[in-house]
Amino acid sequence: MKRLEGRIALVTGSGGGIGRGIAQACAAEGAHVHVADIDGAAAESTAEQIVKVGGAATAMAVDVSRGQDVTAMFRAVAAAHGRIDVLVNNAGLNVRGDFRHMSDADWVRIREVNLDGVVRVARDGFDLLKASGRGVLVNVASIMAHRGLRQLTAYTATKGAVLALTKGLAVEYAPYNIRVNALAPGFVETALTRRALSNPGINKFLLERTLLRRFGTVEDIAKAAVFLASDDAAYITGAELAVDGGMTAGL
Ligand code: NAD
Repeated sequence: MKRLEGRIALVTGSGGGIGRGIAQACAAEGAHVHVADIDGAAAESTAEQIVKVGGAATAMAVDVSRGQDVTAMFRAVAAAHGRIDVLVNNAGLNVRGDFRHMSDADWVRIREVNLDGVVRVARDGFDLLKASGRGVLVNVASIMAHRGLRQLTAYTATKGAVLALTKGLAVEYAPYNIRVNALAPGFVETALTRRALSNPGINKFLLERTLLRRFGTVEDIAKAAVFLASDDAAYITGAELAVDGGMTAGL
């Protein structure tokens, strides 16, 4: 029996990287996946790949930092299915740079996608999660919520806020049988990290601090997302699951 058979899922930022992996893994477990991304062509491509291997997917162009896009996204899902069983807040970005030189515009852009977008999706998705009767919200945070690293300070601040938000939402949504958890990946090679990880010094520094001595794969993260979304995690809410090869366990 597939673990998400018949469920309706929506994954933001699933045109590429970790989000695409989560969308594919949810579809492989039987869910109909709504693939939402600011890059509509990328969303189409993920949906096509899912359908090609026998899954069910619908693509949508959505910028989570725009209220009207999020409203339209949930309206479309409401019209098609009337509920969401699995909602994954994955869209995120970083603008690298020394904190002291960061422009207001860069800070606002990081915050409005990584935090405001997550807030908006979690809030406006409530009615559809409630309609499920067994809704699950997964917020993709980062182990960088617990660590400082040069040029990542604004990013880490937003991810720390996502962890705090997750706990508050777990409390507020529990009466509606909606579980809310955070997934905290370690370092995974995607468009987000490629430049940093291709720097030999940074690569070595990070690998030396990863107990399992390798970076994560998109599949490593997607498997954990499916676990949190599935009934295997039926008694887990308000938790943070680190998928980081042990990076946050050691010194
Ligand atoms: P990525 O850049 O490969 O993919 C991000 C996706 O989100 C892209 O398809 C992009 O088009 C989309 N996106 C960006 N802004 C958007 C917006 N405003 N609205 C909708 N979609 C938008 O990055 P990734 O590494 O796959 O990251 C996915 C999530 O995982 C992010 O929240 C990121 O912070 C988190 N994360 C990544 C790592 C890592 O090592 N890669 C580690 C920890 C946490």
